[in-house]
Amino acid sequence: MRPECRQMPATIVDAMKILIVEDHQRLGRFLKQSLTEYNYTVEWATTCEKAKDHLAEKNFDVIILDLGLPDGDGLTLLREWRENSFNEPVLILSARDSVEDRIKGLDLGADDYLPKPFSLEELLAHIRALLRRQSSVKLSVLEHSGIRLDLLSHTVHFNGLPVDLTGREFALLEVFMQSPGRVLTRTYISEKIWPSNYDIDANLLDVYMSRLRGKLETAPGKSVFKTVRGVGYQLL
Ligand code: CA
Repeated sequence: MRPECRQMPATIVDAMKILIVEDHQRLGRFLKQSLTEYNYTVEWATTCEKAKDHLAEKNFDVIILDLGLPDGDGLTLLREWRENSFNEPVLILSARDSVEDRIKGLDLGADDYLPKPFSLEELLAHIRALLRRQSSVKLSVLEHSGIRLDLLSHTVHFNGLPVDLTGREFALLEVFMQSPGRVLTRTYISEKIWPSNYDIDANLLDVYMSRLRGKLETAPGKSVFKTVRGVGYQLL
């Protein structure tokens, strides 16, 4: 079978913009940091007024909206946006998780509702679902040697079977899938998956490579990657 590879610019993932509207400092900071690590471009507003300013300035792919805000109610904000034809997908995050509140939020035009407390994985899954729903059919799949990596749904299949990867493992595999067959240097790979201001332990890449291999090189004697001593790695 001929290895097939359809390449896409990496910006398709990088370009996804998220606005967080959350007044709780610790949660807001955590969300901003976590989502940034998952390659989303994130802005954070702590009040209704600031959220309005952000939205007036630019488009977002997803808005994460808290309900209890210091200068108003998230639901009022949502109603205003919808009345003014702001159609960005809105995910409500709230400790108010009564059925009535959910219905009210959805009636006002929210696309999804996630009660607090939630796990980061749960939130990421909801965001991906929203992005998937709203994105028109874009080419977003990289394929090589039986590996299929879907940039929009953030899923990986190997020989038709789903492979469960963490966000960082996914990012690592994506780097290789963008350049299949090429020997990639350790520096190149590290720069792609870790922000340059991170002080990265040199062994960390090896740890991640070993995890990724553990998940993909499941058939005995079948290598997916080749270690090129002193240089880096290659996706075969
Ligand atoms: Ca709040």
